Amino acid sequence: MMAALVGLLPCRSLGPGSRKSLCPRTGSVGSLLWRGSVRSNGSTAVYDVVVSGGGMVGTAMAAALGHDVHLSDKKVLLLEAGSKKVSNQLPKNYSNRVSAITPGSATLLNSVGAWEHICSTRIRPFRRMQVWDACSEAMIIFDKENLDDMGYIVENDVILSALTKQLDAVSDRVEVLYRSRAVGYTWPLHYQTSDTSSWVQIDLADGRRLQTKLLIGADGQNSMVRKAAGIQNIQYQYDQSAVVATLHLSEATDNNVAWQRFLPSGPIALLPLSDTLSSLVWSTSHEHASQLQSMDEESFVDSINSAFWSNANHSDFIDTAGSMFRSAVSLLMPSGTASRQLPPSVAKVDPRSRAVFPLGLGHATEYVQHRVALIGDAAHRIHPLAGQGVNMGFGDIACLTHYLSAAAFNGKDLGSLKHLLQYEGERQRHNLSLMVAIDLLKRLYSTSIAPFVLLRTWGLQATNAVPPVKERIMAFASK
Ligand SMILES: Cc1cc2nc3c(=O)[nH]c(=O)nc-3n(C[C@H](O)[C@H](O)[C@H](O)COP(=O)(O)OP(=O)(O)OC[C@H]3O[C@@H](n4cnc5c(N)ncnc54)[C@H](O)[C@@H]3O)c2cc1C
Repeated sequence: MMAALVGLLPCRSLGPGSRKSLCPRTGSVGSLLWRGSVRSNGSTAVYDVVVSGGGMVGTAMAAALGHDVHLSDKKVLLLEAGSKKVSNQLPKNYSNRVSAITPGSATLLNSVGAWEHICSTRIRPFRRMQVWDACSEAMIIFDKENLDDMGYIVENDVILSALTKQLDAVSDRVEVLYRSRAVGYTWPLHYQTSDTSSWVQIDLADGRRLQTKLLIGADGQNSMVRKAAGIQNIQYQYDQSAVVATLHLSEATDNNVAWQRFLPSGPIALLPLSDTLSSLVWSTSHEHASQLQSMDEESFVDSINSAFWSNANHSDFIDTAGSMFRSAVSLLMPSGTASRQLPPSVAKVDPRSRAVFPLGLGHATEYVQHRVALIGDAAHRIHPLAGQGVNMGFGDIACLTHYLSAAAFNGKDLGSLKHLLQYEGERQRHNLSLMVAIDLLKRLYSTSIAPFVLLRTWGLQATNAVPPVKERIMAFASK
């Protein structure tokens, strides 16, 4: 396991010069002058920035570039293989794909004007998070004393639609090509010069060829940009899939709590959508996930309720040791013990809302190369247990836009490695700490062996009792 985690480390941690030796094509020092067929055809469109991939992250990136005052004279293009997804009419049924959005991401979405659309469409804030162990009484509660929102549950389609509207608003600055798949990238022959032979060339499936001074890869976990640039991706598949569904609660409640219980087979989460609806994300073994997907509705609902309520995994030994530790902690830190709430029970599932997604972890050893930057799932893919995947992508955007804006203001080449490396350093530090913490959490909770259960029970109880520690965790995770 440690070997796998060490593999996540950025190449620069291997020592100076390691970036050069990782060059994709030859593996030799000095090979940053990549080979490639350069066409200096005057009719080929040249862009300052091309964002390849228009999912939530790529679309937000293009919108952020289009809204930045220092980048106003730059020619930006967003390429998306799929069709345009903007709907003026909100579907009655909630989508089964939702994201927990942090306040930090809300700020980024607000800066491009998309947050207002999201708030006027469909969004559910939550004020509290309760996370507890199925093998003991241990739990941790995150909440804000001043009743501020801790985060928001938003359908992915609502986020994408709001961002697309904001892109339309800057159509004079950002061009968008839908149904346009990039099929090949040719890297610059010359490293320093600024003639057309030093731009990245992009071949589209329909035969068109484009050029750009900076290519941003936002093309998801199987990123072609990452592969074509020869950037190494440390990855492994978890032995789990996530089952998602839209659920109807037994009765209407305030429904402003995000619930998560760690079962030995994986975490199950219930995220609020409305007073009567919640979204399910249940990570479990592949076999169990496919059983959950195909079982009848009543058995599915029973399985969810039992996953949240059953104490079948408790043992007397852990319960006694946990309760002694909890009593000792509450004597030492009387103010740190928050009261446990009971999760709502589920009455039925929206027909056809069940879907299954295999889970994995991936991390690009480099986020940038000369004229290339990776963002979102193209750079990092994580387990959904902490609801951080797209939030990390939005964090990448805020950071990269900041450095590109400064470069434009200072009249610098946007594709230069100098400021791209600043982006990489800042984001890898943040993303890697989160990824390692989430991966360790996933592994620590995937066992019901007594010493590990006891260790995590005491750890969770101690963390729950110390408000400053919880505040630091919340502050880090809400960036
Ligand atoms: C079950 C589940 C629950 C999750 N819950 C949360 C959560 O609560 N909070 C959270 O923050 N994250 C969550 N995530 C993670 C989140 O969904 C992802 O991190 C996010 O969707 C990644 O967005 P992206 O834009 O980087 O990539 P993608 O959504 O994969 O978008 C990539 C885009 O690139 C396009 N593309 C690909 N190749 C090309 C090409 N060659 N040319 C042109 N276009 C191309 C594709 O068509 C696609 O539109 C969850 C994930 C799962 C599986």
